[in-house]
Amino acid sequence: MDPRRVAEDKLDGLVEQYRAMLRGEAPPLTLYVHVPFCQDRCLYCGCNVVIAPQDKVSEPYVEVLEKEIALHTKELGRRRRVSQLHLGGGTPTYLSPAQLERLVGWLTNEFEFQPEAEISIEVDPVVTTEEHVRTLRRIGFNRISMGVQDLCPRVQEAVKRVQPVQFTHDFYSLCRDVGFESVNMDLIYGLPYQTVERFGETVEQIVRWGPDRVAVVVPDRPGLPGHRHPRDERGAAVVVRAGRGCRDHPDIDLVSRRSSCPLTNRV
Ligand code: SF4
Repeated sequence: MDPRRVAEDKLDGLVEQYRAMLRGEAPPLTLYVHVPFCQDRCLYCGCNVVIAPQDKVSEPYVEVLEKEIALHTKELGRRRRVSQLHLGGGTPTYLSPAQLERLVGWLTNEFEFQPEAEISIEVDPVVTTEEHVRTLRRIGFNRISMGVQDLCPRVQEAVKRVQPVQFTHDFYSLCRDVGFESVNMDLIYGLPYQTVERFGETVEQIVRWGPDRVAVVVPDRPGLPGHRHPRDERGAAVVVRAGRGCRDHPDIDLVSRRSSCPLTNRV
């Protein structure tokens, strides 16, 4: 049999399965919207990301998202209940505040968001404006996840992600000031020039600011010269499993990742 025909039949089967799943009776939905664009590539990035000028691709992409939402609600029926929405990337705030507002407007028009729904977004503070943050809160986002990676300037320069400490703290304060109930910070351990001691200082500093959650990503497949796999005080490699808190700070999630984006937000 023609291999192309086999592949097409298989694809048709998968589409039918997906349709049946969408139509099935189900508990409230969780929605994920992906924005695969970034303005620059971080040197540690392992994502399939598109680096493109904002003014060229964002509007066509938003228009396609509107069609995608319509295609899904055609199968699902309108006003299905939603308990969670997450915008990830890439960099979701690559879209302008007005584009994000339109996108959320379409979603809230087509779906029934539960009053207690978690509505969250990943942000790169470097490209996220105050207008973005205020708009996001106004249109219903209640959780924000910001990429930090490491506060050490030498590490930041090495991975082309310069984000001064004061700037990061100001961004965090802005999120709190506009009323975000939940703020997450993402860190990476395994970047060039990191040491256990210096990275510990970053963790201590971040914890003092008081975010609701800190996620430490430990890439399994480092691609950068100078990468250091985490080691304990005796020099043995530290194996970190997803969801395991660290001893001194049980609220910190240690996440080991293989090939996904090292962090939402420039991690
Ligand atoms: S690490 Fe995240 S922010 Fe940086 S280029 Fe990759 S997707 Fe974009």
